[in-house]
Amino acid sequence: MKTLTVSVVTPDGPVMEDSFDMVSCKAEYGELGILPGHIPLVAPLTISAVRLKRGNDVERIAVSGGFLEVRPDKVTILAQSAEKPSEIDVDRAQESKTRAESRLQTKQDNIDFQRAELALKRAMNRLDITR
Ligand code: ATP
Repeated sequence: MKTLTVSVVTPDGPVMEDSFDMVSCKAEYGELGILPGHIPLVAPLTISAVRLKRGNDVERIAVSGGFLEVRPDKVTILAQSAEKPSEIDVDRAQESKTRAESRLQTKQDNIDFQRAELALKRAMNRLDITR
C-alpha cells in the first residue's frame, strides 16, 4: 500500500518526519483529507489538530496555523508551532487559556482583543489534543 511521507517543521526546527496512510487537517477554507497521489497544492492552516493515520492508529499534532504543502508522495506542514500530545504542558495551556479569557472580558482595543482570541484558540487546541 502506498504511503505519504509527512514532515512537520516549525521555526524551532523539525518536529517529525514519518510515513502515514492519510493526513487530515483544517485549512482556512475547510477540512482536507490527503491520500497518497493527491494533486499538488498549498493551503493555509488554521489553529487546529493535524491527524496522521497509519493503519488503525491516529497521531495528532496541535498546530498554530501555518501552511500545508502537498506533493503526490509528500506532505510538508510548516507551522508556527507544532506539538504532539506528550509534548504539551497542560498547566501552561490552562494558564494561557485563563489569561486569554480574562483579557477578552476586559475592555481594550481591537488588536489586543484579536491577540487574546488567537491565544485562546491556541490554548484550547492544545488542551483538546491532550484529552
Ligand atoms: P503561552 O502563553 O503559554 O506562551 P502561546 O500560545 O502564546 O502560549 P506560542 O507563541 O504558540 O505560545 O508558542 C511559543 C512556543 O512555546 C512554541 O515553541 C510552542 O510549541 C511552545 N508552547 C506554547 N504553549 C505550550 C504548551 N502548553 N506546552 C508545550 N509547549 C508550548
